[in-house]
Amino acid sequence: QGEIDPSKKTIVVLGSGWGSTSFLKAIDTEQYNVIVVSPRNYFLFTPLLPSCTVGTIDVRSLVEPIRFITRHKSRQVKVVEAECTDVDPERKVITITDNSDVKGQSSTSELAYDYLVVGVGAMNQTFGIKGVEQYGCFLKEVWDAQKIRTKLMDCIETAAFPGQSPEEIDRLLHMVVVGGGPTGIEYAAELHDFLVDDLTSWYPELAGKIKITLVEALPNVLPAFSKQLIDYTESTFKEQNISIHTKTMVKEVCEKEIVVQRPDGTSDKIPYGLLVWATGNTTRPLVRNLMARFPETQTIRRGLAVDDWLCMEGAKDIFALGDASATKYAPTAQVAAQQGKYLARIFGQLASQETLEAEVAAASTEEEKNKKFRKLQKAKDIKPFHYSHQGSLCYIGSDKAIADLPFGPGNLASGGVATYAFWRSAYISNLFSTRNRTLVITDWLKKTILGRDISRE
Ligand code: FAD
Ligand code: NAD
Repeated sequence: QGEIDPSKKTIVVLGSGWGSTSFLKAIDTEQYNVIVVSPRNYFLFTPLLPSCTVGTIDVRSLVEPIRFITRHKSRQVKVVEAECTDVDPERKVITITDNSDVKGQSSTSELAYDYLVVGVGAMNQTFGIKGVEQYGCFLKEVWDAQKIRTKLMDCIETAAFPGQSPEEIDRLLHMVVVGGGPTGIEYAAELHDFLVDDLTSWYPELAGKIKITLVEALPNVLPAFSKQLIDYTESTFKEQNISIHTKTMVKEVCEKEIVVQRPDGTSDKIPYGLLVWATGNTTRPLVRNLMARFPETQTIRRGLAVDDWLCMEGAKDIFALGDASATKYAPTAQVAAQQGKYLARIFGQLASQETLEAEVAAASTEEEKNKKFRKLQKAKDIKPFHYSHQGSLCYIGSDKAIADLPFGPGNLASGGVATYAFWRSAYISNLFSTRNRTLVITDWLKKTILGRDISRE
């Protein structure tokens, strides 16, 4: 474990997701003490998480312990598996709590920081709709994917139970996805593939009765993609027998059915066996509490307002990135990763500034002082964060993907099997380690040769 050097400033990093991990990879630990606090001791590669819900990929192939990621740092990063439950900006301390199942004598403590980097991400949006938390399954974390996989197989086995009525079989085999953003679309696509590739041969008497429905409040799915790709996705889903109910808003979730409002304003009930809820993000309580400490400057409900240098408005020692922050960019892994890398560079510049300031003060000749001063001015010129969009990708089933890629001043939209090959290679090259790459490729091979596992976990 990393030792705290009292001569160096301490950066406490909250979270081990896209933003924080990219920061940890780039930060120079010679210049700072670095402590990371996160309730999970690993990084999760979210873009391939939908594949874990049906066993195309194993969840263990997508995670990488933070201690592995930071093991080559010149000075060790200290990892604390805990949740940050409070930030006190005046005392510059955070409260941490061990919320895991196993607790020791000490499970609450405080940590002091000089700088705080908030990368706690966001939580699932429910809009306060009754029953969502109780009956729906989210798709954000490893355990969400495992829960979906287990529940899906449970629905199918329960439908196969002797004496089940035809109506009950139809309900149990109705898989409903709420939210037509990329998460909902990718989940529906994976489920479709599982149905066609595996369930059809293992449950020949039931497979034909399994239905997939996607419910979306807006007039179309994937609002962030270009029009032709939206049309292509909707027509591909039609071919795959996935029903899309657009302009349909879920109003309530009950144990066995959802209540929806149709475009004409009427209410309708849709029975379901499995409900996957993917309606986007909302801020975590920790972020809301931190915002409440700065009522004058923190006025955006979406997350922590930051300046162009990712410094939290109103607090000069707190920085925020990724889904926890409210910027002009979409809450994506791409943005979070670039912000993490950028912020590590800023910290490098801040450290150089301090060294140069001391050197200017200690310079013995006028010439040396001027030279150091010019260097100091350069170090003080910190460029604002600039996001470089690499494109948007989404898997839509049957070995097809869609891609909106920046091309010159415009955009190149493509969809189909070739785009899927690109999708695969892009994600493989983006995976953090050779270990993850090997595991994912092996999982893909295993699936192709042996099929997916249908055991209920
Ligand atoms: P996260 O990656 O969510 O990490 C947050 C971290 O904070 C976690 O480690 C969490 O455990 C920790 N944490 C939470 N609470 C606390 C606390 N109180 N104290 C300390 N730590 C805490 N984006 C893309 O660009 N491309 C994609 O293909 C893509 N696919 C996606 C697929 C799915 C299924 C999902 C759910 C998202 C996808 N995204 C994708 C979005 C992307 O995952 C997020 O934008 C990204 O994870 C945000 O990074 P982050 O670091 O802000 O938060
Ligand atoms: P999202 O916010 O992109 O989409 C949520 C959808 O749910 C919206 O279209 C919304 O209209 C709909 N909705 C909201 N309330 C509803 C209700 N009551 N009834 C029916 N529909 C309702 O959410 P997401 O898909 O989870 O994505 C979150 C973020 O992660 C986005 O920034 C996204 O770009 C990113 N992401 C990207 C990828 C990818 O690039 N492949 C994959 C997953 C997530």
